[in-house]
Amino acid sequence: MKWEGNRESDNVEDRRSDGDGGGGFGGGRSIGLGTIAIALAASYFFGISPTTILSLLSGGPGGQQQSQQASGPNRTARAEDPQTKFVRTVLADTEDVWTQIFRVNGKTYAPPTLVLFSGATPTACGTGQTASGPFYCPGDRKVYIDLSFYQLMQQRFHVSGEFAQAYVIAHEVGHHVQNMMGIMDKVNSAERQMSKAQKNAMSVRLELQADCLAGVWAFHANQARSILEQGDVESALNAATAIGDDALQKQEQGYVVPDSFTHGTSAQRVRWFKQGVSSGEVKSCNTFEVKTL
Ligand SMILES: [Zn+2]
Repeated sequence: MKWEGNRESDNVEDRRSDGDGGGGFGGGRSIGLGTIAIALAASYFFGISPTTILSLLSGGPGGQQQSQQASGPNRTARAEDPQTKFVRTVLADTEDVWTQIFRVNGKTYAPPTLVLFSGATPTACGTGQTASGPFYCPGDRKVYIDLSFYQLMQQRFHVSGEFAQAYVIAHEVGHHVQNMMGIMDKVNSAERQMSKAQKNAMSVRLELQADCLAGVWAFHANQARSILEQGDVESALNAATAIGDDALQKQEQGYVVPDSFTHGTSAQRVRWFKQGVSSGEVKSCNTFEVKTL
């Protein structure tokens, strides 16, 4: 992926040196927490239980136990590290693409803030944890990422490559786009009358749409800035394959329970990302109207 030298976003909040163990809710915003919690659960990029991730983090090779660190490194120095620059650049790219797409449709795009944290951090959706994987909180319109997640992707799921990492961000930004478009609200209110299985099915459609929207971003970013290099799309598809609910459940418990899917199977995630990246059209991402996902 070619990104060096492109614009970097200022909408990044670096909380990595805060070092508090989280706890509490940002600004005491606990109104509607039930709804928000559902949306939060639905927005995990990784369809895997927090306890599993915790055990992966603590049992992983090479002692990647950085989740509770943050012993006061210099903010400025840290903000210049290549990974932070990468995140800022990808976020800026999503801003440029979505601003343009919204404008063409007569709308104004308000970009999300991306929060870099380490261990745990307060959010309007409750305490955000490394163990949850990257997520989007509709309540404060922020994307939360602990960058140690990228090591986990690489070491545990053998997913590497910058574009696969960019896809993670683009997927979460996809949830923000869904929020801006009012789709999250609709899903949340529809979910109130639903059974657990129906809610999961709805969540799958929401997640696959975010995958498709990530693809739409990639299409336009590539048209405008030629970001894609040989093998990039494959690396994102590998990521989608590795983190489909079926693949994760097999790895986790040895069998697959389709009713408990919240993100879609590997094949579905691949299909919808491809759909977005080949068409570049938001309207091709209508996962709520198709019969077969
Ligand atoms: Zn998601």
